[in-house]
Amino acid sequence: MGPGERAAACRHPRRFVCPLGEASNVPSDIPRPPLPGGPFLVVGLARSGVAAAEALRARGERVYGTDSGSPADAGRLAGTGVELDLDGDGTRLLERVSAVVKSPGVPPQAPVVAAARAAGKPVLGELELGWRLAPNRFVAVTGTNGKTTVTEWLAHVFRAAGRPVAVAGNVGTPLTRVADGLDPEATVVCECSSFQLEDTIAFAPEVAVLLNISPDHLDRHPTPASYLEAKLRIFAAQPEGATAVWDADEPALDETAIPGAARRRRYGIEGCAGGGCTVRFEDGSIRDAEGVLVGGDEVALGGEHNLRNAMAVATAALAAGVPREAVAEGLRGFTAIPHRLEQVAEVAGVRYVNDSKATNVAAAQAALATFGDGVHAIFGGSLKGERFGPLVPSVAGRCRACYLIGEAAERLAADLAPAGVPLRRSRDLETAVADAAAAAEPGETVLLAPACASFDAFADYEERGRRFRELVEAL
Ligand code: ADP
Repeated sequence: MGPGERAAACRHPRRFVCPLGEASNVPSDIPRPPLPGGPFLVVGLARSGVAAAEALRARGERVYGTDSGSPADAGRLAGTGVELDLDGDGTRLLERVSAVVKSPGVPPQAPVVAAARAAGKPVLGELELGWRLAPNRFVAVTGTNGKTTVTEWLAHVFRAAGRPVAVAGNVGTPLTRVADGLDPEATVVCECSSFQLEDTIAFAPEVAVLLNISPDHLDRHPTPASYLEAKLRIFAAQPEGATAVWDADEPALDETAIPGAARRRRYGIEGCAGGGCTVRFEDGSIRDAEGVLVGGDEVALGGEHNLRNAMAVATAALAAGVPREAVAEGLRGFTAIPHRLEQVAEVAGVRYVNDSKATNVAAAQAALATFGDGVHAIFGGSLKGERFGPLVPSVAGRCRACYLIGEAAERLAADLAPAGVPLRRSRDLETAVADAAAAAEPGETVLLAPACASFDAFADYEERGRRFRELVEAL
């Protein structure tokens, strides 16, 4: 069969199993299990839960909703025929329903979820529900850091190739919000958090990418092993012909650790020296088997971590059938997204960089690694069980001083003491920016890379980043 005939054949996915990666613009041929019978109880009514409840209602299902608080979004459901139980645990509704849909924010130990499982009622995550409702091909992205960057970058590459694409998941728009109305020919690029993956059952993306694994969310995942296990679920149900993509330099991952039947495609630097990688970084360029895709200096986003992100994008896009030239063009044309190593301003010769999205130690390390010396680093925020010791070598090498803020300040002071650089207790972001601005000399950098979540002082990392920007602009 020639390429033209194959493309035509692939337009009949029920009759032909398309060679994934060669067909383009066709719906998925990975079968979805039918939804369990209703009525449904949606547990957790923030953005994803409300979207799931609305999607089920739109299909004419009977839906109940519960939340341990009264989130603002839940109000939207009141007029839609969803019976609500707010400020409670929802277990009283369980006997009226046949299945439970769980929002990613709800812990697996929540009484209503545990009771549903004990009663043998199916529990679906919001991601699983959205995937079953959408007929589309999926490229799914997970990892501790870089998910949003890689998701947006992949979408950019698809657009560069003129291929229809939709972005959903953890990145902002819940999958169930868009799942039903999608152009079936669009590929869904879906950012998946470990909390979303935890509740998948049959979820099987055509291409799945696991970027990296480092300790994060130890407040919610009881052990690092359970966190890894949740992330690996992205591969678990993939059939033959689908593609599993990961970083060959990630020590937590090797061939044997990867579940599922997908073909394996790796990318990386050191781990690719012996061959066996689809995409690698060598002699200053990102290469595939045919040669140079782009020079490292053509990638606009700085830092080794972004070279890795670029390789993840290239490997996944090639596996999804995007032509090589469009992949190269899309790697070149992608510029920064807000709050990720975003250069905010230069004031009196001092550069101010907003990496508010560095909410864990690994992301802050990656941020520091993109600079030489002369860094004034602002760290701190709320604690989530991580220790900061791994930052010591990066800090000792390049920081003039660190400015410690928020709930984590004392833990940071203790863990970073071995770095031997001045550690200033700056209390809050306002004081830290003022202290760093007063100390920084022309040619140096003030970097907000908190290594912590923001919830002790801000609604989220975006509000923290915006406040940093305002403070810098006011200097
Ligand atoms: P996520 O969606 O996984 O939180 P983002 O793309 O929003 O990831 O980036 C989060 C933080 O991690 C930012 O501070 C960013 O600079 C940093 N980062 C991005 N990619 C990587 C990577 N591959 N390794 C380590 N840190 C990264």
